[in-house]
Amino acid sequence: MEYKLTHKAYTAALRENRLLGLKCNACGGYTVPPKKVCIECAGEDLDIVELRGQGEIRTFTVIRVASEGFQAPYIVGIIELDEGPWLMGNIIGVNCDEATMDMIGRRVKLGHAVIPGDKFSAGERVATTFSL
Ligand SMILES: [Zn+2]
Repeated sequence: MEYKLTHKAYTAALRENRLLGLKCNACGGYTVPPKKVCIECAGEDLDIVELRGQGEIRTFTVIRVASEGFQAPYIVGIIELDEGPWLMGNIIGVNCDEATMDMIGRRVKLGHAVIPGDKFSAGERVATTFSL
């Protein structure tokens, strides 16, 4: 079985602030980021679709001690997309010292950031971001 939506295509779209996912023809569920099968029913009959790239913050944390190559502090959140799937990404445009639980439920919009390569990676990568 092959990946219908490759990481390469997913990342290329993300660089244009477009979010690609998979829609299942068996159950109607959405899968993002790309997997080989539907995350809801494990179905294999999937179509590539463009999602709205919008959703609500379900939870988040403020990272104050960053991994090597990252600049602390920053916020990592889990977003429930309008189409259903939950997607992790950095929440940008919020002062880390002012982040409170009131952020949960706030609407966010997808974007991206290009992260330079470090000794743990094979080079530059594209990260998902969300802004209020
Ligand atoms: Zn399904």
